[in-house]
Amino acid sequence: MAEDLLRVRNLSTRFFTEDGQVNAVESVDFDVRDGEVFGIVGESGSGKSVTALSVIDLVESPGRITSGEIWYRNPDLAEEVREDNPDAVDGDFVDVRRVPENVRRALRGPSFSTIFQDPMSSLNPSLTVGEQIAEAVEVQRRARSNPRSTRSRTQGFGLGNLLTSTLLPSQGYVSDESRAEAIELLEQVGIPDPAERAEEYPHEFSGGMLQRAMIAQALAGEPDLLIADEPTTALDVTIQAQILDLLRDLQEDTGMSIVMITHNLGVIARMCDRVGVMYAGEVVERGTLEDVFDDPVHPYTQGLLGSIPDLDDPAPRLQPIEGNVPDLYDAEMENRCYFADRCPKAMEECLHKPPEFDTETGESREDFADRAASDHGAKCYLAQHEYDPSQALPEGYFGSGTDEAKSASGTARGDAASEDEEVSADD
Ligand code: SF4
Repeated sequence: MAEDLLRVRNLSTRFFTEDGQVNAVESVDFDVRDGEVFGIVGESGSGKSVTALSVIDLVESPGRITSGEIWYRNPDLAEEVREDNPDAVDGDFVDVRRVPENVRRALRGPSFSTIFQDPMSSLNPSLTVGEQIAEAVEVQRRARSNPRSTRSRTQGFGLGNLLTSTLLPSQGYVSDESRAEAIELLEQVGIPDPAERAEEYPHEFSGGMLQRAMIAQALAGEPDLLIADEPTTALDVTIQAQILDLLRDLQEDTGMSIVMITHNLGVIARMCDRVGVMYAGEVVERGTLEDVFDDPVHPYTQGLLGSIPDLDDPAPRLQPIEGNVPDLYDAEMENRCYFADRCPKAMEECLHKPPEFDTETGESREDFADRAASDHGAKCYLAQHEYDPSQALPEGYFGSGTDEAKSASGTARGDAASEDEEVSADD
């Protein structure tokens, strides 16, 4: 099995707004291994993008990472950090949350790189595409030219260089070598006539070509980990397929790892080796692609997969997941499973205590050894014991939305309490 490149542990990110605290990412755990594509899938607002921004330390105010560790395997960095900051090092891994901000900034590019959702708004409309890629190349060239590795990169990103790179106009700032490398990158991502196209502005590129240019920019630092945040959302289907094929080819050629963030299960199925399913800021199920698609444990995952149309056996209607994602405001988050209002298998226990992530499964216990070995697990009581229909909540609770759910919850609790009393009386 490939080694872990990244280990994210107990990561939580909050937004402190005037209306209250939003728990956008809640105690998230996942690993990314060498040379794999790890998918993060979920509805809009489930915390996928904030998780990615947290990993690369780009969460903006009023957001802030409030807890967690992000362990990145980099023996050189570990060696440099160990003496001054031993708590931030575990073997070859460094907790990037515990290194200085300038070191974290220096990791962006050669260690972690990102393709953002919308290339049109992510590229500068007043600079040519070639200049923008060359600028990224230039920054990485300066870092690489320094004889000492990561700590030196941070010196290369010091105040002087930072001011130079942010205040001086890009025209004339990049070297001929960086321009040539930018053209090579454009060629690598399949842009025809790359030397000519490098002189064009973003508005002269089609959507697919812009996304390729964004990928070229992200590759400038030869990253260990590429985070692709909905890289095909704005593209039509044929271009989506081309971009996904390109990313897969680049991943196989370079050996980099990819975190693929998407709401599209088709993209996950096409691209990923392992997958984490996010709901309401939590990873609620995690495993290999086969684990999660063929044997889903969490009712939310089952609902997502059940909502995919089957072309061989078209049902008269698609099966939606009833209800809405809960508000993530602190005051709204109760001490229970966040999916309970929408879960067709919600039980009384789900309303009183949030389930822990568990790799054991109740419904297919004979598969437990395989699941444990493959890290397949879910944040659901059904990963701990089998579904007991007698524990089902009253009809009308499931999918009834927040307000009704709360009143139904009261009913459910009342019914349960009555039953308890009856049992006690009988005893
Ligand atoms: S813990 Fe309960 S409510 Fe939550 S997903 Fe599992 S069965 Fe449904």
